[in-house]
Amino acid sequence: MTIPNQHRRSTSALLFLPICFLLLTGMVAAAPDGVFGHESLDELLSAVEAQAQQDPQKALATLESALAELELDEQPEAAVKLLNRRAELLRDQGETEQALLALELAEDLAVQLDDPVPAVQVQQMRGTIYLDRADFDRALEINMAVLNQAQALAHAELEAAARNAIGNIYFSLEQPERARRFYRAAAEIYEELDSRERLGSLLGNIGNTYNSEGRYQEALPYQRQSLRIARQEGREIGAAYQLINLCNTLWLLERMEDARGYCREGIPLLEDAGHYRALHFALNLMGDLRVAEGDPEAALSYLLRALEIAREMDSPRLREASHGDLSSLYETLGDYQAALEHARAQFEAHHEVMDSERQQRIVELEQSYEAELRRQEITAREAEISRLELESELKEASLRERQTLMLVAFSLFVATAIVALLLWRGYMLRRRSSRRIEEKNRELNEALKTISRLARQDPLTGLANRRRLMEVLKSELSRRHRTGAPLTLALGDIDYFKQLNDQYGHQVGDQILMGLAKRMRSCLRESDLLCRWGGEEFLILMPETDAEEARLAMEKVCAAVAAKPFETDAGPVEVTITFGVASVRGDDFKSAVRVADRAMYAGKHQGRNRVMVRIEGGDAE
Ligand code: GH3
Ligand code: MG
Ligand code: MG
Repeated sequence: MTIPNQHRRSTSALLFLPICFLLLTGMVAAAPDGVFGHESLDELLSAVEAQAQQDPQKALATLESALAELELDEQPEAAVKLLNRRAELLRDQGETEQALLALELAEDLAVQLDDPVPAVQVQQMRGTIYLDRADFDRALEINMAVLNQAQALAHAELEAAARNAIGNIYFSLEQPERARRFYRAAAEIYEELDSRERLGSLLGNIGNTYNSEGRYQEALPYQRQSLRIARQEGREIGAAYQLINLCNTLWLLERMEDARGYCREGIPLLEDAGHYRALHFALNLMGDLRVAEGDPEAALSYLLRALEIAREMDSPRLREASHGDLSSLYETLGDYQAALEHARAQFEAHHEVMDSERQQRIVELEQSYEAELRRQEITAREAEISRLELESELKEASLRERQTLMLVAFSLFVATAIVALLLWRGYMLRRRSSRRIEEKNRELNEALKTISRLARQDPLTGLANRRRLMEVLKSELSRRHRTGAPLTLALGDIDYFKQLNDQYGHQVGDQILMGLAKRMRSCLRESDLLCRWGGEEFLILMPETDAEEARLAMEKVCAAVAAKPFETDAGPVEVTITFGVASVRGDDFKSAVRVADRAMYAGKHQGRNRVMVRIEGGDAE
């Protein structure tokens, strides 16, 4: 008698054994009262829990309607809990995709909360789902992160759950020793927390690691203790799983009788709870046991029931296994036709598995293709947005540039205007100052002229002074050189002028001097130069005039002076004057003046009011 698929059985037994702890029910805190038709959120979740045992669909519907009633943004904490529980239920039903969607929403809400724990719990749930999907890398990555966060938050329960989850991942990766380390650490925490129920599950998990290493004897005490705790805690499902585990281990230890007892006890519990996958496993195990005990007829009913369940579950993989087992069993029984039929069915189921795997793969590929498309769409949209942003930036920049240019142009215009204004002002200032300079120059010239005129004029009488006389003399002497014309001079001195001054005062004396000058001038020729020689003395230079002609001219003057009194402030005053006349010989003016002076003194001596001519060396006339 062969024991069919013994090896496959011992390892496949491990598939359903790890138990994940989801802290959802434990994390419920205070929630608004009187919502969802329940007293509190706790109550609602308890109701869901109860429904999940009987009718998971109903539990899901309850959650759906509660979520629909809830304002997600206003009660994010409650929403996170409901969404997490929904994800868990969906996951139990194999709807991992939908479960992940629920968790995505839960995560968005959880990060808004002040309390970081719910967000970590959502992550933990995601890790569990990835483990279900055999995405071990992602599951491990998430749970390691959860473990770190739990330690940082010093959250013992979260840490234990993360360690258990990591143990499950390593167990699935067929690394039982590593898995066991994590399980043990988790079990220690639960022991400290006095969390019996979870400790019980952990012990079962540890037992499984020994089983997978072929160390069945070592597995037994863990599984037994796990069963004991499950019973104490009233966890029927937990107890059922441990019963099947013990059945499997004992069968592997070839303790058929004991094994059968555990399986018999466990199978109805699984059937009641509707845990069909585990039930399918247990029925197959029982079938194998009966075959090993030499009762293939008894085995047949178990295997047929297992096939029935596989069909109910619409699972090609379980059907493939069941048909395989049945084919072997019928072969053992000698029913080759039935064996062939089941072998065919197994072959078809295998194709279905392949097909569904292919289908699954196609769905996955389609999903990733769609995700890629969406990513590309987003990238394209982002590119378009950044292009538009760039464009508007460019527009803005060119507008700014134009504004700057206009500003520069305007500034240039203003600067040019200012410069032009300054230049114009400068020009005007220069023009005004050059005008003023011209004016000043003119005034200066005038002043110079006046000065030079004054330098040659006697200020009292307005007659030429000695300087002017010397100038005129110079030109007359040079003219005489060319023409040889005579040049005669007369020197006149007022008679008794001292007495007049004394009698009438100096001012009247001055008035007499002025009047005398005027009268004498009027008697003389234009070409004659009348000059105030000094004090009350006058010199008359007469060009082209000989001594005789000069004497006659001076007589006329003398007569005119004496002819009528001069009007003064002191009344009319009679004045006479005496002249001495002399011709200039050669250029010797000085000698001529000396001679004229002597002639004039001679005239004084002879009684005054007369003209005396004295030819040099001769007597006066
Ligand atoms: P004589 O007939 O001998 O010339 O007598 P005299 O008084 O004129 O004598 P003298 O020539 O010595 O005197 C000149 C006087 O003329 C002296 C002075 O007071 C006066 N005198 C000279 N220059 C001026 C003058 O500018 N104004 C006035 N008021 N008097 C003058
Ligand atoms: Mg005199
Ligand atoms: Mg005199």
